[in-house]
Amino acid sequence: MKVFKFGGASTKDAQCIKNVVSVIKQTGEKDLVVVVSAMGKMTNALETVVNTYFSNRVNTKDALRVVYNYHFDILKDLFETTSHIVFEEVGNLFTQLRQFLETNKSKNHPFVYDQVVSYGEIISSVIISHYFTENGIANTCLDVRHCIITDDNYRDANIDWEKTQSKISEKVSKQGITVTQGFLGAEIENNFTTTLGREGSDYSAAVFAYCLNTECVTIWKDVPGVLNADPRYFEQTQLLNQISYREAIELAFYGASVIHPKTLQPLQRKEIPLYVKSFYNPTAPGTCVGKGERLDPKVSCFILKKNLVLISLSSLDFSFMVEDNIGDVFKLLHKCQMKVELIQNSAISFSVCVSDKFNNLESLLTKLREKFSVKWNENVTLYTIRHFKPAELKALAENKNVLLKQQSKETVQLVIKE
Ligand code: ADP
Ligand code: ASP
Ligand code: MG
Repeated sequence: MKVFKFGGASTKDAQCIKNVVSVIKQTGEKDLVVVVSAMGKMTNALETVVNTYFSNRVNTKDALRVVYNYHFDILKDLFETTSHIVFEEVGNLFTQLRQFLETNKSKNHPFVYDQVVSYGEIISSVIISHYFTENGIANTCLDVRHCIITDDNYRDANIDWEKTQSKISEKVSKQGITVTQGFLGAEIENNFTTTLGREGSDYSAAVFAYCLNTECVTIWKDVPGVLNADPRYFEQTQLLNQISYREAIELAFYGASVIHPKTLQPLQRKEIPLYVKSFYNPTAPGTCVGKGERLDPKVSCFILKKNLVLISLSSLDFSFMVEDNIGDVFKLLHKCQMKVELIQNSAISFSVCVSDKFNNLESLLTKLREKFSVKWNENVTLYTIRHFKPAELKALAENKNVLLKQQSKETVQLVIKE
């Protein structure tokens, strides 16, 4: 048995969904869990629905219409007649979503976010499951919220492994094809929908693989595999044929966004290989993340994370930036849901580069100013080079405004103001 994951890029239009069918047929796999994400950029479009809902509600209808039209355009391209049951099922999902928005009383933004944004994955799985059936791929569509059980940390929920293991063993057949949603779970107490963090569908695929002890996981992408640099920002890239779990965890952690960082540890625990392959070229080998060779070919890897904030702090009372002060800083960072990307300290200053995923910078700065002298720089980029060569580092830093540099034997990181 195997797990396949198809993300937004592989399902962004009718042509791509037809290609998903062709990938499944070409691989000839019969026993599969197929994990799907929301189509194209629909998660972003649903985030706009939530944002308008919390700002003034005037534009919510329009934002919802964008999501509705996108899916119905795809449906009309995929199915010959609008009398197909899938039109009614997807229509009902939109009715449910509208009803939720009309009747909801909760002001808890993360809770509402998860109840709304989750429709991207639900709609996508319903469409794909019906389209598989139409094309001779018998399958069952499984509501992942009956399987992946989490806490109620909305927008970034944590998996309850014991309960999830038992539900997956109970509900997922090891034979035949199951289509289900990535990114989603349900919290234990009231069964409300939760999400696992943006781009979390790779992680969902790993959860199924772990709980079902599958042979491998394949995540199908719009790139030939894991490259030694993000092709959106670097012109010359090389395909990595083989990477160890450890190296892949490092790359994903530093921001190689082709694999969600949480994906690898469950797979490593059971030594389940992860393949990253191109959905344009399903028979090509792609990248294998697994046991063995650390990095083949042995090349430097370039990673960048954009839109970060570099904050530099010093005390107001001449005290050193040591344990108690730094402890306070971390408590505040945690409270404001900042993700720490890099830290550096000296006797009298402490710098931290963070990603402000939930737009809490203003409130963090206000709290920090009560205790520290604060300087900050928005829109900085963090470059990481693994296995760097001095000439590459020099070339990268040339003509750039380097605000901070950190170097260890294998890794160098630069914070740059673009
Ligand atoms: P999906 O959401 O469809 O599963 P993603 O867009 O999340 O796929 O991931 C694929 C994208 O990851 C590629 O299009 C590429 O721009 C980006 N990417 C970033 N770093 C790398 C890398 N090192 N190798 C390959 N792709 C990378
Ligand atoms: N649809 C979700 C997102 O865009 C999850 C995923 O694609 O992995 O973040
Ligand atoms: Mg993605």
